[in-house]
Amino acid sequence: MNEVMLRLEELLFLSAPEVAVVSAEEDGEVIRIGIRCRAGGTLCPGCGVWSNRVHGSYLRFPADLPSAGRRVVLSLQVRRFACTVTSCKRRTFAEQIPGLTRRYSRWTERLRSVLAEVGLALAGRAGARIADVFGISVSRDTVLWLVDALPEPQPRTPRVVGVDEYAMRNGRVYGTVLVEVESGRPVDLLPDRESTTLAAWLSERPGIEVICRDRAPFFAEGAREGAPTALQVARGPRRRLAQHAHLRQRT
Ligand SMILES: [Zn+2]
Repeated sequence: MNEVMLRLEELLFLSAPEVAVVSAEEDGEVIRIGIRCRAGGTLCPGCGVWSNRVHGSYLRFPADLPSAGRRVVLSLQVRRFACTVTSCKRRTFAEQIPGLTRRYSRWTERLRSVLAEVGLALAGRAGARIADVFGISVSRDTVLWLVDALPEPQPRTPRVVGVDEYAMRNGRVYGTVLVEVESGRPVDLLPDRESTTLAAWLSERPGIEVICRDRAPFFAEGAREGAPTALQVARGPRRRLAQHAHLRQRT
């Protein structure tokens, strides 16, 4: 039996190596998998100090991704630990399994992210309906809330970036616009035309290989400082005008 449990751990909880499977049983439409965390202790969320003083335990039943056409519900034995730091405000705290559970959530992290993806693709009502097909009962509002809680997608770093100036407040203030040359899409606006601002922006994006800029000295200097290995291509005034017209249409 032990070998079967170990195999189940590998199959079902590859990304959470601290999980120990203690039972697996079917209950009608539902597969119930009993798990516990085999770590000796955990960090206090209040002060960050390790504690192995178990203060008690209780069961939680987060829903997991369905398997073989059935709902999967975990029967998770959660230990409550006492913080050993006397000045810490958290007297006791419950353990979490990184990558698998979070506080108060009725889903595992992987079910949560699948529901968020479903919501992203189908929005609330259709998302809730599709989730129901998979045996996950979730309301339309909850699907929308999950999409809302997703982290902002990080824009990818362009390979070829065009640097240009743009005018604000009827031309009284100038900023810097950065354009992904391959798609023609503006990727960012900087509030000024300083070489240091441009250098800082470029240095945070090491994937940039080519910088197309006009002949203004602050752009050349900023590009040299911020992306010393990128190829610099200087553009003439005709190209600049075309770029401006293009941007005005897009923004
Ligand atoms: Zn603490």
